[in-house]
Amino acid sequence: MFSRTRTTALKSNSFARNLLRLYSQAPLRVPITLPNGLTYEQPTGLFINGEFVASKQKKTFDVINPSTEEKITTVYKAMEDDVDTAVAAAKKAFETKWSIAEPEDRARALFNLADLVEKNQETLAAIESMDNGKSLFCSRGDVALVSKYLRSCGGWADKLNGNVIDTGKDHFTYSIKEPLGVCGQIIPWNFPLLMWSWKIGPALATGNTVVLKPAETTPLSALFASQLCQEAGIPAGVVNILPGSGRVVGERLSAHPDVKKIAFTGSTATGRHIMKVAADTVKKVTLELGGKSPNIVFADADLDKAVKNIAFGIFFNSGEVCCAGSRIYIQDTVYEEVLKKLKEYTETLKVGDPFNEKVFQGAQTSDKQLHKILDYVNVAKSEGARLVTGGERYGDKGYFVKPTIFADVKEDMRIVKEEVFGPIVTVSKFSTVDEVIAMANDSQYGLAAGIHTNDINKAINVSNRVKAGTVWVNTYNNFHQNVPFGGFGQSGIGREMGDAALSNYTQVKSVRIAIDKPIR
Ligand code: NAP
Ligand code: MG
Repeated sequence: MFSRTRTTALKSNSFARNLLRLYSQAPLRVPITLPNGLTYEQPTGLFINGEFVASKQKKTFDVINPSTEEKITTVYKAMEDDVDTAVAAAKKAFETKWSIAEPEDRARALFNLADLVEKNQETLAAIESMDNGKSLFCSRGDVALVSKYLRSCGGWADKLNGNVIDTGKDHFTYSIKEPLGVCGQIIPWNFPLLMWSWKIGPALATGNTVVLKPAETTPLSALFASQLCQEAGIPAGVVNILPGSGRVVGERLSAHPDVKKIAFTGSTATGRHIMKVAADTVKKVTLELGGKSPNIVFADADLDKAVKNIAFGIFFNSGEVCCAGSRIYIQDTVYEEVLKKLKEYTETLKVGDPFNEKVFQGAQTSDKQLHKILDYVNVAKSEGARLVTGGERYGDKGYFVKPTIFADVKEDMRIVKEEVFGPIVTVSKFSTVDEVIAMANDSQYGLAAGIHTNDINKAINVSNRVKAGTVWVNTYNNFHQNVPFGGFGQSGIGREMGDAALSNYTQVKSVRIAIDKPIR
């Protein structure tokens, strides 16, 4: 037991500590000079109810530039109590503002947001390259997709029609689509801003409000973009952004009784866990998870084009792409020729400083990811795969990896079965269509597949037989805002983009009215 004086001393100490914390708070905005010389103000607080605020417990974390390994800034870290506050704000905004807003007002706000993303595109792209490590070439592409997608969502907002259902003359029956309520959204670090838009776009178009957790590794673009939401006329509380850890914020969102839906993009293991946690409150869950996608080159393809496509399929975005074409299958008669061309082309891809306009492949996003990739290089070597090019770190500062090709792999090797999430690709040989279909489908995943051929029969027949949510023919990693994207098997549940995304965020209400025969 403490003595009275000791207890009083402890109390006054903790009072002093709290006071100190209050006055030594990290700022809620910091001026940042981007590596390309642009300057801007970075919000560093939690975005709750239209304001940037410190986390209640005043916890913070550092954000690292993966190209230099240096600290960019410090951001407030949300905890369970902050989640509760944000969910309450989102619930109130849902009930009093957004779900009852005129559809054309929701549309206008999303159009405004798309315009503001466009107006700020260079800043957003540079933030993304600094925080994630991807080349400016990649982040500019992401930002362009973001504005197109938000505008497309705005277009849906006033077209959420229901149905009149024919149930005979004695009833008038119709169905309408209603929003779900507060949506918890958990996004990864490989496409921070693009995933922010894939999540908030359809949720807002359909009248829901959101509490979104960016990945701890890459919180900056979502925080910057949340202030654009306000400027666009989206009311306070409709969009809330909580940087913080998955184990705390993600977990609380998944379990929260007032969160009606969880939308998650990330690893299959975390997705599986979220689904279990969300089961207790029977939430709607959509998951966009991992992949190990096959990319098939038939001998009749335009081989030079195919080589560029298969290289882009794996090395785009430093290989940190859920649908990366990480298993290449080349028909036996052209195997050595295509492999040689692929090696030569890959060695021309410039790796390094994401702000160098000539660089194609920037840094991996984190130290953890760098080491995971290098571990897989060792796994592949120990399994007997033939290293064709790469297989090591590029430079000694920053998390860069040389684009890596392993050939002559066997289908049961770990390097062929497991998702690496980096610039590493395996190459195998096949001879017949049946054989390559069996190889392509021998995976727990089913996110995407690529087919390179000049034979339309082969293109359609193989597309029909391959188990994947997206099939690209004579192209790869080719996204469009109107085309649904998502996985078969353990690659996920639900689809993003296009009209398919809207059903993730709505529920159907049926109304059946009995019609009596009028007397007079
Ligand atoms: P992850 O755990 O799936 O992280 C994705 C998001 O989920 C992050 O925001 C993370 O928060 C959050 N999260 C983590 N644990 C959670 C939990 N218990 N409840 C709720 N949310 C949680 O992925 P990772 O560990 O960053 O990466 C591991 C591997 O996953 C990668 O190597 C790659 O293979 C795969 N991956 C796939 C995708 C994809 O697009 N499909 C994206 C990223 C990673 P924190 O910020 O705290 O981590
Ligand atoms: Mg970072």
